[in-house]
Amino acid sequence: MNRLIYMDNAATTFVDKRVLEAMLPYLTDMCFNPSSIYDGAQDVHAALDIARETIAKTLNANAREIYFTSCGTESDNFAIKGVAYANRDKGKHLITSKIEHHAVLHSMAALEKEGYEVTYLDVDENGLVDPATLDKAIRPDTILVSIMYANNEIGTIEPIKEISEVCKKHSVYLHVDAVQAYAHMPIDVVSDGIDMLSASGHKFNAMKGTGFLYIKKGVKIRNFMDGGAQEFRKRAGTENVAGIIGMAKATEIAHSEIEERMSHEKMIRDYIIDRILKEIPYSRLNGHREKRLTNNVNIGFEFIEGESMLLALNDIGVCASSGSACTSGSLDPSHVLLAIGLPHEKAHGSLRLTVDHTTSLDDAKLVCDNLPKIVERLRSMSPLYEDFIKNKK
Ligand SMILES: *Cc1c(COP(=O)(O)O)cnc(C)c1O
Repeated sequence: MNRLIYMDNAATTFVDKRVLEAMLPYLTDMCFNPSSIYDGAQDVHAALDIARETIAKTLNANAREIYFTSCGTESDNFAIKGVAYANRDKGKHLITSKIEHHAVLHSMAALEKEGYEVTYLDVDENGLVDPATLDKAIRPDTILVSIMYANNEIGTIEPIKEISEVCKKHSVYLHVDAVQAYAHMPIDVVSDGIDMLSASGHKFNAMKGTGFLYIKKGVKIRNFMDGGAQEFRKRAGTENVAGIIGMAKATEIAHSEIEERMSHEKMIRDYIIDRILKEIPYSRLNGHREKRLTNNVNIGFEFIEGESMLLALNDIGVCASSGSACTSGSLDPSHVLLAIGLPHEKAHGSLRLTVDHTTSLDDAKLVCDNLPKIVERLRSMSPLYEDFIKNKK
């Protein structure tokens, strides 16, 4: 029996045992509603305040600027729709990029149906947004720019500081989807000039169904849920107390060792990238070589379907992802790979391996030892590859 090698950390992460331990009291003895009046409930309320403070500190924000949500998707919806509705008197134009997560792209599309206008910026062949292009796209009626911190498929890290300078110049709000970047690299919302930032707990070893939105003091934004007074009257609903406590614990752990984690991941990442590119012909790295999340490997293999590679890897106990939007049930190639200029057939043959701080070099070796055989076997079944080799001779 193979041991499991988990290289799909961009999809979700395992809950850290210490996070689970921190959560348990709030599901048992301390299971009070933080809005109630008795001592136990007030203790829970105080614990939430501390969690808010812990998270705020990691971003150089104030606790009052952290709003708990149910996930990264909700945080993106909250920021984009909230700003759009609250600022419609100023304008109805929004700007984003073509490589955003669907939580952003589909929020934008929903607004388009309501009469808003959206500009989708192109990215270059590495997935970078050009601040000068953004500068030209901003109009007098532009109210919001939403650009991700780092891309979930190809790992490219966007020039957020330069982008925020452009937004400042035009007095336009900047929302950043940092779901992949937060707790995986240091982020300072003040020096980066970010007005709103989305994060999701299950992408950094906390549980699914947790997330938060940073909203800078003074940003004009509509409340997301109507009901009670929770989250400073902006997001009603009894708090996911245990989840929030766990998320704060997870971010505390991650930030206490963030440099070590990053340098370990980078070592593993570069080992995998270097070996694959060297040992497997007709392979290419997708995304920027340096401006890249430390845990992300995304390689395109010509003449191969991503899905068949995933099944072959599954047979040897490796969990990975491909560049196809399999979640949507369609076989459309990823919008991200198309946006960086890959033709359909190349976009289909991509493999994403996302490691973490616990991935060992042995795991990386096992994957790299097996991949050339897998690729060769799959190519040997491809008529396209056969033709290609024949024509070459
Ligand atoms: C995972 C992800 C999301 C969605 O977060 P959920 O918590 O799963 O809803 C949004 N944006 C990016 C970049 C992501 O990677």
